[in-house]
Amino acid sequence: MKTLAAELARRRAQHLYRERLVLDSPPGAEVRVGAEKLLSFCSNDYLGLANDPRVIAAMRVGAERYGVGAGASHLVSGHSRAHHALEEELADFVGAERALLFSTGYMANLGVVSALTGRHDVIFEDRLNHASLIDAARLTRAKVSRYPHADTNQLAKLLVLARKPGMITTDAVFSMDGDLAPLAELRALAAQHGTRLLADDAHGFGVLGKNGRGSFEHLHLPLTPPVILMATLGKALGVFGAFVAGEAALIETLIQRARTYIYTTALPPAVAVAARASLLIVRTEGWRRERLQTLVEKFRTGAQSLGFALTASTTPIQPLMLGESERALEISRRLRERGILIPAIRPPTVPEGSARLRITFSAAHEAAHVDRLLDALSTVRI
Ligand SMILES: *Cc1c(COP(=O)(O)O)cnc(C)c1O
Repeated sequence: MKTLAAELARRRAQHLYRERLVLDSPPGAEVRVGAEKLLSFCSNDYLGLANDPRVIAAMRVGAERYGVGAGASHLVSGHSRAHHALEEELADFVGAERALLFSTGYMANLGVVSALTGRHDVIFEDRLNHASLIDAARLTRAKVSRYPHADTNQLAKLLVLARKPGMITTDAVFSMDGDLAPLAELRALAAQHGTRLLADDAHGFGVLGKNGRGSFEHLHLPLTPPVILMATLGKALGVFGAFVAGEAALIETLIQRARTYIYTTALPPAVAVAARASLLIVRTEGWRRERLQTLVEKFRTGAQSLGFALTASTTPIQPLMLGESERALEISRRLRERGILIPAIRPPTVPEGSARLRITFSAAHEAAHVDRLLDALSTVRI
């Protein structure tokens, strides 16, 4: 048996060792790590709401009204008026019949996939799906069929061959690449083969679409069966938690069968109160999305004129592909010396040989911050 220490040493030698930063400030354009002040381009707080005074005030009011913990699972006595109201508002916002809150997006994906598929089904997954979708399929013991990234022709062939297509699962916006899934084609294939499409819009919800309803609004697609939407409250909304939206019978089925919904303590109701305040801001402050888009365009123009090869992503996720982990780590380190925080993303989060800097933007950034980033990038010699 290999010792844990030997295994850890091997990871370090391969440049795959992971270490945590300890933040001494709230998330934001600038963060503090001990005595270091860093300009951050790595959070998912796309709209800059994680530290918004109105959302903080809502959380405080929620804690005073409901206490700090839910005290029980949703099905026992943990489902508060705050949770219920948030579910209704989320369903209304995305245009689905109903929505169901989960404690995290990871748990929501596990819950949906395991409630709706069994060992005789085939689950079709995009190769670049988020770890939570991959783990969800593993949990069901279903047969898993992975198709090349966004390749709907290949998926169509696999669907024809499958005896019992159970579900297609995909990131709607790919978390490490920022590109959109071909949702119209996926939706059509799912309908044609009598299977569900679970779309994980963790990175589109609040960010994409004229009203921030996400990837489906952006692509002018209805949120009706066979689509099941999952989105999180911890990214653009800046809070915590997740929800699944779809038709009423789907939501009732999840309440009966999703084990990651049933066997866990409900989110603190104060978190639901904060998420409601945040959702209201998403609905009313469209300028945040416009500003975000302006910053992304400014970055892309600047980076291209400096000669960097960007991907086709037009979302706030702008990866700079660097290849080997060692190189990504080195460039991340040099940027940090220049006051810029962008941790290197390495395997197994991304495929072998595709280590990268995953640069993300937020409405909390200003144009001058993007200039500082471009300036730093031009001096680290990528
Ligand atoms: C972050 C993320 C999740 C997990 O959501 P949490 O609420 O953080 O557990 C799921 N899917 C994707 C694509 C994500 O980026």
